[in-house]
Amino acid sequence: MGETVESISKEVERLRREATDALSAAGAAPELQAVQDRFLGRRSGAVSGLLKSLGRLDPAVRRQAGQQLNLLKEEIERGLGEARERMEARALEARLTGERVDLTLPGRRPARGRRHPVTKVREELEDIFLAMGYEVYEGREVEDDYHCFEALNMPPDHPARDMQDTFYLERGEGLALLRSHTSSSQIRYMLDNPHPPLVRIICPGKVFRRDDDITHSPMFQQVEGLVVGPGITLGDLKGTIEAFLHTLFGPQYPVRFRPSFFPYTEPSVEADLGCIVCDGKGCRVCKGTGWVEILGSGMVHPAVFEAVNGRLGRPVYDPEEVTGFAFGVGIERVAMMRHGVDDIRLFYGSDLRFLEQFRG
Ligand SMILES: [Zn+2]
Repeated sequence: MGETVESISKEVERLRREATDALSAAGAAPELQAVQDRFLGRRSGAVSGLLKSLGRLDPAVRRQAGQQLNLLKEEIERGLGEARERMEARALEARLTGERVDLTLPGRRPARGRRHPVTKVREELEDIFLAMGYEVYEGREVEDDYHCFEALNMPPDHPARDMQDTFYLERGEGLALLRSHTSSSQIRYMLDNPHPPLVRIICPGKVFRRDDDITHSPMFQQVEGLVVGPGITLGDLKGTIEAFLHTLFGPQYPVRFRPSFFPYTEPSVEADLGCIVCDGKGCRVCKGTGWVEILGSGMVHPAVFEAVNGRLGRPVYDPEEVTGFAFGVGIERVAMMRHGVDDIRLFYGSDLRFLEQFRG
């Protein structure tokens, strides 16, 4: 081949210059990789190629050329290593300065949810009755005809059922229905607690009817109340309702009772509250009367106790021994009065522009 030590040295020098230039020109990891491939690559690297060809040289030339080539190889490897370290240091520096944290900036507050206005009113009602010694009982949303109507003195042909037409569901042993009022919880509670009674419960929850207009929603919420015990009178009912409404709205609003009718109470009374919008002078909300209908109530009908006793098979709630009163209030109605909302559907439209107006 005719190579001499001198010609090899020249070639090594040339490669050294080229490698030095290439290393200083390389600005990123892929370029360094290209330098490595170009000079040290196992297949086509310039230095690797020369090292492979040493076998063809004279032994004396081979030794010296080998030393020079190995030295060059080490230099390039060292240069590559240093260049990589510099590059990583630069990247780290860039990240540290670029992502500097300014501790004086105000923090980012995550958006906080808030409770639904109807939920808040419901909790407020619960608190008022809990403070009066009542127990909160949930009952069921899916009921049967017995608990929802029959035990409440509404046999199958009773006209009062028409006003509460609801949603029926197919169920194995017969029809189930979405309860049309929380009064069904009265029956469920008495059947589930067949011990000699002093009952004092409220049952808040969703009820369902086939209505849909600005004052009726197919789903709305009620709080039912039931008190049973020896010697409970209409006076207890009136005192309780007054105390409740005065705690809720303020003692300045008068409460009045009017005779009414519900199949499961006798006598039945409707409670009105002096209009909080016009202070009783007469306005659109109270239709000029100065009074707003707020809840229905009455003394528990003996037929209701008899129905429960019939199911229990013994006179646990003996109408000769115990009396009671019950009441039901629409939670949305309270929320509407309190906040001056005139369309019940706004509560269930999930429109944040509406819901965000209720703080807390
Ligand atoms: Zn009014």
